[in-house]
Amino acid sequence: MFDTNHLVRHAELFAMDVFRLAVWLVLLIAIFVPLERLFGLHPVKIFRKQVGVDLAWYFINSLVPAAIIAVPLSLLARTLHSMDPGGLYSMVAGWSLRVRLPLMFLVNDLGVYWYHRISHKVPALWQFHAVHHSAEELDWLVNTRAHPVDMVFTRLAGLVPVYLLGLAQTAGGRLDAGVALLLILGTIWSFFIHANIKWRLGPLEWVVSTPAFHHWHHTNDEHRDRNFAAIFPFFDRIFGTSWLPKYWPPVYGIDAKVPPSLVGQLMHPLPDQTPASVPSLEK
Ligand SMILES: [Zn+2]
Ligand SMILES: [Zn+2]
Repeated sequence: MFDTNHLVRHAELFAMDVFRLAVWLVLLIAIFVPLERLFGLHPVKIFRKQVGVDLAWYFINSLVPAAIIAVPLSLLARTLHSMDPGGLYSMVAGWSLRVRLPLMFLVNDLGVYWYHRISHKVPALWQFHAVHHSAEELDWLVNTRAHPVDMVFTRLAGLVPVYLLGLAQTAGGRLDAGVALLLILGTIWSFFIHANIKWRLGPLEWVVSTPAFHHWHHTNDEHRDRNFAAIFPFFDRIFGTSWLPKYWPPVYGIDAKVPPSLVGQLMHPLPDQTPASVPSLEK
């Protein structure tokens, strides 16, 4: 029989999620709008092109990818739960969060680095990732413009190694506190590196990603195939893909046309859409 109570409960949970996201959005606006006003690299336009589409992506990408990755990650956690290869998991489980958390950030970013680099190289993956690169103006909110499939693969590339190395708790069926912190802090940082903020951090720019570092990743020239790391620029240094001059990129985006509408961007990777040409730089 049709269970109305069950449906109502789900609707309530969904409404709570949307409310929680709306509160986060107000906080993000309160942080980034004044910062961009005070320290803007380019003239600030709050109601710029596609702001409505990016706001829609904010809600979709905060809910859909998390719901999708929960399935494989909980399966993986359940599979790993009773394993202890070479005593590794029991040893790591004994470490405090203060030790595990920095390692989680490093391992996650290394996974994200390689997936991101591959997504620039493999045409089928680039069609999804091109949605993110289609922005011709950068500000904090551009962070949300991404295809959910791209988001899912990126998250899995970062988190699966974290679980495989035993850095995340696999017992109890609840999200590991370290993983939760990683996702929250990582997401806030991701908004920051897209922001229209002209701060330069000197030598620190080789330790942690900054707007300059990530803005160069959005440039519409050969340097787009650089700066793949989300948080730690030294991965690009190590793997020979870093680019961080003193000046800023002159122009953002890609030449190929990605539709400006939400539905158009969602459908963009499907085969009958106009393909976004793959960046050609990596040799
Ligand atoms: Zn990219
Ligand atoms: Zn970006």
